[in-house]
Amino acid sequence: MKRTAEVVIIGAGITGCSIAYHLAERGVTDVLVLEKDEIGRGATADAAGGIRLQFSTRTNIELSRYSLAIWENFKELFGIDIAFHQQGYLFLLTSEDEVQTFRETVRFQQEMGVPVREISTDDIRRIHPSLVLDDVLGGTLCMSDGWADPYSSTMGFAQRARALGVEIAEETPVTGLLSENGRITGVETSKGVVATSTVVIAAGAYAGEVGTLAGVEIQVAPYRRMSFVTEPFDAIPQSVPMTIDFSTGLYFHPESGGFLFGMSNEDEPSSFNRTVDDDWMNHTVTELCRRVPVFGDARVRRGWAGFYEITPDDNPVLGHVDGVEGLIVASGFSGHGYMQGPAIGRCMSELIVDGVASTVDISAFSPNRFASGQLAQEHNVI
Ligand SMILES: Cc1cc2nc3c(=O)[nH]c(=O)nc-3n(C[C@H](O)[C@H](O)[C@H](O)COP(=O)(O)OP(=O)(O)OC[C@H]3O[C@@H](n4cnc5c(N)ncnc54)[C@H](O)[C@@H]3O)c2cc1C
Repeated sequence: MKRTAEVVIIGAGITGCSIAYHLAERGVTDVLVLEKDEIGRGATADAAGGIRLQFSTRTNIELSRYSLAIWENFKELFGIDIAFHQQGYLFLLTSEDEVQTFRETVRFQQEMGVPVREISTDDIRRIHPSLVLDDVLGGTLCMSDGWADPYSSTMGFAQRARALGVEIAEETPVTGLLSENGRITGVETSKGVVATSTVVIAAGAYAGEVGTLAGVEIQVAPYRRMSFVTEPFDAIPQSVPMTIDFSTGLYFHPESGGFLFGMSNEDEPSSFNRTVDDDWMNHTVTELCRRVPVFGDARVRRGWAGFYEITPDDNPVLGHVDGVEGLIVASGFSGHGYMQGPAIGRCMSELIVDGVASTVDISAFSPNRFASGQLAQEHNVI
């Protein structure tokens, strides 16, 4: 492993690998990515793969729109098929408040060129005949949304970064951040010290922990989230969109002849507990069968738990950390970090090379917004 690097990135998930690739593409190839586990085996491996433009804030729509163009062309650009199923995202809305809020958001999204529309319950029934719609008042549908494979996406960035000269060291945890006179000077790892003047924390749910190594508070906390997949199951066509019951957070989409589904337990406190909670699985299955009774005939093949990396306003922290020169963070995606990986890589590389991100204005997600009370709440969080 190299002993000095122009830029050290902590974490080789979608975020770290995309930043590394985009830096190398800009000519900054003296980059070392340090990963305590293996490439793409953190939260990125646990993601449901969802990719959508349906956000409520300008910054998120712009980050997703830039990323979508990359996902749509990933095979041509990176030579890897990420199995992008562009079958749409369908939000089901069950209260007048939700309908009103989504109506306003759809108007804003349409002004920004997002091909989203409100959809009636009759239209929903036509698209998705097996849904129970008794309590559904309407929905929104955006057909450019979909889902893809997060692991192969990450490997696409990692392989191309390596080809351009980036070193990615796996099984190499960062154990310390070194600084002198308020400036980053290096990192301590299980394999020794690496001298650097720029460190990017792309450590997902561990960003808060890594921040404490430099004595700074990064407001990212881990929350357990679970997903499950069924055995192949043909009672529902594989052509249906990603479907989300917004009030409960239940989601499901076709996956390998079966379905992937999950639901957030909003009452569960922050922890690094990664075991599958059988009670929550049963509750999720009950909700799934209430919404789509034919799932009663499906068998759950497996389930897993990973971490959402949640911030106080459900948006990431992106940029320079106050108080430690050369320390940068790109974490806290609050459950939508896979889909925005391409744009985040590009913007963070611009921040490092040019001093400012120009592809998307990410200043609303600055790490110091919490101290100044300027939160940027995202409404469309699942
Ligand atoms: C069940 C579930 C479903 C999800 N569904 C979606 C979805 O549909 N769409 C979507 O966009 N997002 C989804 N997400 C969120 C998404 O997975 C994350 O936002 C995204 O993967 C974050 O990527 P990352 O690279 O920032 O973090 P990670 O992938 O977690 O990568 C961080 C890496 O840092 C490493 N690391 C941590 N500490 C250290 C250290 N001290 N030294 C060295 N390495 C370290 C970790 O090992 C890890 O590999 C989901 C998450 C879960 C849990």
